[in-house]
Amino acid sequence: MNEPIVIAIDGTSASGKSTNAKLVAQALGYVYVDTGAMYRTLAWYCLQKKADVHDAKAVTALLRKWKTRLECVDGRARLLVDGYHPEREIRTAEVSAAVPHVAAIQKVRQWLVKRQRECVQFGNLVMEGRDIGSNVFPETEFKFYLDASLEERTKRRAAEGIQENLAARDRRDSQRATAPLMIPLGAMVINNSRMTSEQTSGLIISEVRKRLAGRK
Ligand code: C5P
Repeated sequence: MNEPIVIAIDGTSASGKSTNAKLVAQALGYVYVDTGAMYRTLAWYCLQKKADVHDAKAVTALLRKWKTRLECVDGRARLLVDGYHPEREIRTAEVSAAVPHVAAIQKVRQWLVKRQRECVQFGNLVMEGRDIGSNVFPETEFKFYLDASLEERTKRRAAEGIQENLAARDRRDSQRATAPLMIPLGAMVINNSRMTSEQTSGLIISEVRKRLAGRK
């Protein structure tokens, strides 16, 4: 049997990773994986359990205890905690502020990267995050890095009703010691400041199809 194909979509916050990754997954019939949601789920869980997200030992202790399971529903893979996926709860400003601290802890990353790699059990994947092409699936030949101007990204978040200091989160993500946000080697960089999601996802889909055709 052929190895599952993994399309890695990395990039800055609010650069359109989720929208485009979902469109690409839908067009190709692949499973969509939002790895940011996994880090957010842990940050949310820490807040629930009143663990200090700046305290690596406390977060790691929780990680050893929490009961999780991966599932795939309607073409989307997700992480359940105690049988529950906190879909809405992980999008609050409080969780957004807490998540880069949790994500900077090496043991957290090792643990979550394992779960992310296990997602190939569901088939071909479109996986979005910050370190997919550089660290989770560095061997994949399908790597994309999305970016847009800070002004445009801030506008996009505001249109969703979210006011957030994106520059501060990007800085934390880019400057951490373990698997920082970076352009993965061999990635196609797409600055979509002036592109629609149809154009961005269309570009990714045609590039993937071209490379797949070239494999035959
Ligand atoms: O993509 P999203 O904004 O939901 O990601 C939330 C946070 O999770 C990021 O700001 C980053 O701190 C962390 N993250 C990460 N590595 C990934 C995905 C997300 O460190 N692969």
